[in-house]
This record gives sequence, C-alpha cells and structure tokens, in this order.
Amino acid sequence: MPQSSAAMFRRQLTRHGITSLKRATLSTLQINTGRLCNQACEHCHVDAGPKRTEIMSRDTMARIVNWCAQNKISDIDITGGAPEMNPGFRHFVEQLLQLNARVMVRCNLTILEEPGFEDLADWYVTHRIPLVCSLPCYSQENVDGQRGKGVFEKSITALKRLNARGYGSAEGPTLDLVYNPAGAFLPPPQDTLERQYKQELASRYGIVFNRLFALANLPINRFKRYLNNNDQLESYKNLLVDAFNPSTISGLMCRHLVSVDWQGYLYDCDFNQMLDMPLPHGHKRPALWDIDAAFLENRPVAIADHCFGCTAGTGSSCGGSLAE
Ligand code: SF4
Ligand code: SF4
Repeated sequence: MPQSSAAMFRRQLTRHGITSLKRATLSTLQINTGRLCNQACEHCHVDAGPKRTEIMSRDTMARIVNWCAQNKISDIDITGGAPEMNPGFRHFVEQLLQLNARVMVRCNLTILEEPGFEDLADWYVTHRIPLVCSLPCYSQENVDGQRGKGVFEKSITALKRLNARGYGSAEGPTLDLVYNPAGAFLPPPQDTLERQYKQELASRYGIVFNRLFALANLPINRFKRYLNNNDQLESYKNLLVDAFNPSTISGLMCRHLVSVDWQGYLYDCDFNQMLDMPLPHGHKRPALWDIDAAFLENRPVAIADHCFGCTAGTGSSCGGSLAE
C-alpha cells in the first residue's frame, strides 16, 4: 500500500461507481462499555486488557438509555473489553431491555469462569440475552496461542455452562460464535467453517451453538504490532487490497451501525473508534446525545486503509461474512 491509504480505498470505490461511502438507515447502536478485559489477546483491535481503566460511567449509561428511548433503534450490540466487568453493566442492560429493541452482548466466554461472575450465566439466561462469543478455533493450540494459556479450556467449560441453561438449543436464547484467523490470512468460507465447528464441538465436547461468524483481522493496534513483529504488515495489507470485493459494500457495518465509545462519542464503526477517527461532523466531536438517528442517514463515512479489511474476500462485519 505505497500511496495515501484513504485515497486508495476511495479510488477502489470510484472504480466501482461509488463516489463516496454513505450511511444508510441506522439499525444498530453498538456500545463499547470500556477497554477493561480479563484477557489481553494477541489480535485484539481494542488493545483491551486487565489494566485498562477506560470504562463507561453510570451517568453516560443513563444518557444512552435516554437517547435510545427517544430514537427508534432495532438492535443494541454491547461490546468491550469484557463488558461484564463494568460495574454498571447489568443495570445498563436491564434498562435497555425495557425499551423495544433487541439487546445482544459480545462475550469472551472466559469471563463466565472468573471469580465473582459465577451467577453471570444465570443472569444471561434469565433475561434471554443473545450472546455472540469469541472462539477463534476448535483446537486448544490455536485458541491458547491467540488468546492466552488456559483460555480454550475455560471457553469450553463456559460453553457447556451456557448449553446447560438452554443457550444454542431450539427453544433457548441464541448462542453465536466468532472465528478470526490466527495469522495473516483471510477467513475460510463461513458456511464450511460453521459445519466444521459444529461437527468438532459436538463430537469432542457435546457443545451446540447457532451460527458462526467468520471475521477478518484488521491491521490495526495489537494485530498491526503482531504483523510488524513478524514482517508481515505490508504483505497482509496487499492481500487485503488484492482481495477487494465490491459486493461487500452494501452490507458494510458502517452503513447501518453507529459505534459509541465509553465516553459517549460517536464513530462509524468500532475500528474507527479504536483509531480515534470520529464520525465526520464539522469541527465538533459528536456524542450520541448531540444527534438523533435520522441525522446520520446519508452522511459520509470516515474511511482509511484499514477499510480494505472489511471488503476483502467474502467481506467482514460484526455479523460475519458479507458476500458469498
Ligand atoms: S479480543 Fe476480546 S477478549 Fe481478547 S482482549 Fe480483546 S476484548 Fe478482551
Ligand atoms: S473499517 Fe469497515 S466498517 Fe469501519 S468505516 Fe471502514 S469499511 Fe466501514
């Protein structure tokens, strides 16, 4: 990627008849409750970990609930860090559940096995909260290599705990898993991988789940440092550029989702949040309560070279692949 990165992505869009990437109708509010996490994974784009101190305050949570009550949002997606480690988490989610929206949580699984969180699985099932859980492989070696020693075993125990409460069954709340590659390559086809996961997890551990989302790693923050340390940054960026797929554009998450950080500020997506690229809004950095949902429609998205990570191959979003 030798040239100006935003210019390259823009030129790719232009080549396919898209003069600027614009937002569509807002459907999802993705709320990052902070960077505190019980893990410190090698590929984390949030740079999250046990020593991070940036977490959402109860006052910010109250302002977000108030905004959601006044704006029509069909989906609320809670992420972190490990969102459950924020002391205001459960009250926040319970308030959001009072509104007419689907509230889901991105859970790293191991938090369910941490001291002090023994009742978390029961709380989740009581509220029937859909969970999207990280499990980058069904092999211990790959998971522990990427996420830390002992993470695989804890994740399997947590999945069994969730299954025992009905998660992933026909009648129970939804349990989706997230795959991301262990290195500088794109995810394999999502359908094929989902079949493999289902077969392996069922036969080895008796675990069931609903869907698998295959995500690409974007070359930012911790993963960028990993690539740099392994002399793979340029080749990975080139791989993403060469695999550009225009059919991913309409489904890009920045078109339908807005990302809110721990202080309430807005971004077109979680990656832009981590790169401190605020939603374009004149000279002011907008917070959620500065705008309404309708304001966002048709606004240009803040793009840069990392966007090639969302458009490569079958594409990548919080909900997995974007194209066949
Ligand atoms: S990838 Fe998820 S579990 Fe791992 S450090 Fe980042 S936020 Fe925590
Ligand atoms: S990183 Fe992906 S989701 Fe974010 S603005 Fe770029 S294309 Fe959109």
